[in-house]
Amino acid sequence: MTFLSLKKLTRHFDDFVAVESLDLDIERGEFISLLGPSGCGKTTTLQMIAGFVKPTRGNIVLDGQDITALRPEKRGMGVVFQSYALFPHMTVEANIGFGLEMRGMNRSERTQRIGETLDLVRLGGLGKRFTRELSGGQRQRVAIARALAIRPQLLLLDEPMSNLDAKLREDMHIELRAIQRHLGITTLLVTHDQVEAMTMSDRIAVMHGGKIVQLAMPFEAYEQPGSTFASTFLGKTNSLRGRVVTSNQRCAIVNVNERQLHIPHGGRSLDGDVHVFVRPEKLRLGAASAGVPGQVKTRVFLGNHWMLQVDTAMGLMSVSLPNIGEVPPAEGSSVGVSWSDDDLRVLPQQEVAHG
Ligand code: ATP
Repeated sequence: MTFLSLKKLTRHFDDFVAVESLDLDIERGEFISLLGPSGCGKTTTLQMIAGFVKPTRGNIVLDGQDITALRPEKRGMGVVFQSYALFPHMTVEANIGFGLEMRGMNRSERTQRIGETLDLVRLGGLGKRFTRELSGGQRQRVAIARALAIRPQLLLLDEPMSNLDAKLREDMHIELRAIQRHLGITTLLVTHDQVEAMTMSDRIAVMHGGKIVQLAMPFEAYEQPGSTFASTFLGKTNSLRGRVVTSNQRCAIVNVNERQLHIPHGGRSLDGDVHVFVRPEKLRLGAASAGVPGQVKTRVFLGNHWMLQVDTAMGLMSVSLPNIGEVPPAEGSSVGVSWSDDDLRVLPQQEVAHG
């Protein structure tokens, strides 16, 4: 059942269209990410949902009620910003209790709720500290606790992990997702970090130029990108320019640098110039006689995998090989690159311009 519905949500800043006629339905209890590069309209969308920015057009419906004109404090939403926006001169408890007091909760209920929420974010025992005395990771937990303490109908997260170091960020992804599931709280995360979006979300809305260009579960969005933009933004990919030779209901034959590729494409009609995509981890390396011949240009070891750049007749291709305890061919080696046709994706070239 739809819990939050954005209907043709639009925001102009003078002549500039930051968010354009955006439609999105979020289910109760779902975790959705708005994922896209800087400036694509993610924060503006979140701010319209929170009530801090007024839409130029369109509506926001929460649990069946149109809240487009409702004041932010009446919306019952918890918001966590990138800056955390904590009160430095107040203790952790006071920071978390602030919103509860505003809502008229009495002292004993407040104390209990603050304690429960601190335990939830594993900050039990730190309630009396001032927030300025905390580490970055602890501050971030306080910000999350403050948003959760009011038991919001909707949790809005605007890049809340971007100030944490990589290891802490990874831990927080897992932990925050567990808390969200435990509370069953409908959550919208704004992020430009595709790993973050993939780790945490039920569905990812990929944004580009003020619009959602793809809405899908993480695996589906990665495996079957709906646009050239989504394909290149969500993970690494090899992008080759080609031209359709023939195409029928199921398969296209595409010419890429004088080589004919057979690409299953799920019934989409295709002609003219296209982009062919293949993920680095879907490519295999073998002897030069097997597959497209090429030469290894660079080889980098990344712990759990190797990343190689191979110069082939079809262009420079990135090949990712899992670390299975063997060292792959050195720079300068002659190799052959091969793949399974099922792992090729094809999209019209003009979609580059439209995202
Ligand atoms: P980031 O990841 O950098 O925060 P974003 O995807 O969240 O980017 P928004 O902050 O929503 O992007 O901004 C979308 C566009 O709208 C940007 O080009 C931005 O410059 C513009 N914009 C946002 N707020 C305003 C404003 N108050 N006045 C004018 N332009 C604005």
